[in-house]
Amino acid sequence: MTIARVELDVPIVGPFDYETGPVDARIGSLVVVPFGRRRVVGVVTGLADSSAVDKSRLRAIERILPIDPLPPATLALAAFCADYYRHRVGQVFSAGLPTMLRKPDFSKRARLWEYVLIANCVVDLEASIPSWAKGQKRLFRAMEKHAAVDAVQARLVYRNAPKILSEWEQRGWVEKRAANPVPSATEQLQTRQPTVAPDLTEEQRHAVGAIEQTLGQFVPWLLLGVTGSGKTEVYLSLIERVAAKDRQTLVLVPEINLTPQLVSRVQGRFPSLDVISLHSGLAEGERFSRWKRARSGQAAIVLGTRLAVFTPLPKIGLVIVDEEHDPSFKQNEGLRYHARDLAVYVANSSGVPVVLGSATPSMETYSNVIEGRYRRADLSFRPAAKAPLVQFVDTRDERVEQGLSQTALTEISQCVRRGEQCLVYINRRGFAPVLLCHACGWMAGCPRCSARLTLHSRSNKLKCHYCGHEERVTHACPDCGNQDLHGLGEGTQRVEQELSARFPDARILRVDSDSTRQRGAFEAMRERIHSEQIDILVGTQMLAKGHDFPKLTLVVVLGADHALYSSDFRAGERLFQQLVQVSGRAGRAKLAGKVLVQTEFPQHPIYLSLAANNFSAFADNLLNERRSAGFPPYVYQAVLRAEAHRESDMWAFLRNAAREACGFTNDITVFDPVPAPVYRIAGRFRGQLLIQSASRLSLRRFMAQWHPLLGGGPATLRWVLDIDPVDL
Ligand code: ADP
Ligand code: ZN
Ligand code: ZN
Repeated sequence: MTIARVELDVPIVGPFDYETGPVDARIGSLVVVPFGRRRVVGVVTGLADSSAVDKSRLRAIERILPIDPLPPATLALAAFCADYYRHRVGQVFSAGLPTMLRKPDFSKRARLWEYVLIANCVVDLEASIPSWAKGQKRLFRAMEKHAAVDAVQARLVYRNAPKILSEWEQRGWVEKRAANPVPSATEQLQTRQPTVAPDLTEEQRHAVGAIEQTLGQFVPWLLLGVTGSGKTEVYLSLIERVAAKDRQTLVLVPEINLTPQLVSRVQGRFPSLDVISLHSGLAEGERFSRWKRARSGQAAIVLGTRLAVFTPLPKIGLVIVDEEHDPSFKQNEGLRYHARDLAVYVANSSGVPVVLGSATPSMETYSNVIEGRYRRADLSFRPAAKAPLVQFVDTRDERVEQGLSQTALTEISQCVRRGEQCLVYINRRGFAPVLLCHACGWMAGCPRCSARLTLHSRSNKLKCHYCGHEERVTHACPDCGNQDLHGLGEGTQRVEQELSARFPDARILRVDSDSTRQRGAFEAMRERIHSEQIDILVGTQMLAKGHDFPKLTLVVVLGADHALYSSDFRAGERLFQQLVQVSGRAGRAKLAGKVLVQTEFPQHPIYLSLAANNFSAFADNLLNERRSAGFPPYVYQAVLRAEAHRESDMWAFLRNAAREACGFTNDITVFDPVPAPVYRIAGRFRGQLLIQSASRLSLRRFMAQWHPLLGGGPATLRWVLDIDPVDL
């Protein structure tokens, strides 16, 4: 009798034994099995002759899904990921596989339907949703966010989706159409001439040559290249060499960088190769068909966001992680993995090089270079543009009105008069406009969270960015009755208003997560900027990355100092990364660029390194600080987060976990439980417990022993373990 060991996405640790019966189950096969009263899809991770389970209780595999078994490398990655991040293997498969492969009725869904919002009905549709209909709201948001939502996705978002969707369809608000499993327009194999590669610069040739030498073995590379230095050209050149050997390249990029422009740039260079992009916004059928092309080895180039790291690539030859420092590579819910770290694992286990590219590498990666574990290739100048000039406006000396200094206003006005574009960039991380009573100091807070509400002046609403609570702006202070309430802080909307007042003739565009909520909105804005219909852009992080606006010559940075006050030890690193990114927007084409930073601390080392365009100076300084303070990358961290409706439940759980932890090795530091930075969200109290070790291996061993001891507490208590957290 053959027994299959099957990993399932169920809340019990697997694997589970099943009789294979007549089906030809192999290691890596996806199988449908009965589990309790349900049927679920699982992955066969082992075969055996006998089972410890009593024969009478042993059940049989129902059938095998009609796809090739997952290759050994994918199984190994899942096992590693599960162990390292303390998840169940079945859960990792579930996170990494296309949703379609998680349904027992997979083959019956061969022809899927998808639903699309009809653009000019969006407002009617949204207005029709009653305020209590949370599920409908979720469904609407999902449709708004993704290009299309298919029947299976819709049901995952909202159980009652089929009924609501057919209602919406009848009212003419959504369109139902067959999900399209053929490659979309940008991805179809094209017969046109390839775009020609530029002649590589000396530095680029050197980098390509050095990395090429290491093809066929595991070597991690840092490609440290200032923005616009041609890192992408280096990737393309390497991809070409890898594809010539009939090998696949996996390219991971941050969500925001995976634009149709990037995909077509890659496709344009290699018209005869199959290039696919994988990201979370794809409709299910589409994602599955692309995944299959990767899995079969047909796709030569797989461009994707963090999730793509789980894609099975039988002929993998190279892994590239662009903007490797980007925090979006860390998944912060569910399976809390770091895609960059897993990419290094994949390269290692496949015996291929991995190229981590960035202008501002993470301290983790950079310290690996310094310690000789990673090799390094540098691109230090821009072949197509000059480095921007960085200047500071000392706001202790200069009056600032509505967030803008006189110097900034003058520069903006000159820039607009020259017919060029400028970007007013607002560093809004951890900072947003609030409603304040100047008489008594009252600020509008969320009733369910220990957080301030954010003022959205255009819609005249106060919104909580943690729990989604919304209310209308009150006109009198609830504490003292004062009727003179003001917004405080340089929100994008306020700066936009101020700029409109100052420059009534200028064409101003605000780009932030509010203004780009609708599908296609960002693309439309991008088009307007490119065709020079815009003079002044006002925006947040969204605008900082990966967009090339040739007419943009001035960047004004507001609110940067907020990061300097932050209690997060990574705030300085993030600020530097963002400032370098946003500075990279200035003067990318023929025109020289200028960056103006408003600050009270123009002598701060972060700003000095920025002005000197000197990452190494910045990083060396920061690493010294981290080493003496005992912060990552010199220690490894894990954080246990817990939340509960009753404060005491949360504290009891964390205190108990800390007590359990103290009995282990002395390589491990167990801190005291502390309140989370936002103590209360949506009525739940939140706390955390930090665990730390100078040895990654010790921490991993400790976790394997400690994690199984965690648990208990009332049903309303939720907890999660976050290994290598990026936010504390
Ligand atoms: P990065 O990825 O480092 O930001 P890109 O590869 O996008 O940089 O290159 C920035 C700009 O420089 C692009 O417009 C690109 O076409 C141009 N470029 C890159 N390499 C060269 C080169 N060797 N010769 C001329 N132009 C180049
Ligand atoms: Zn008041
Ligand atoms: Zn709230």
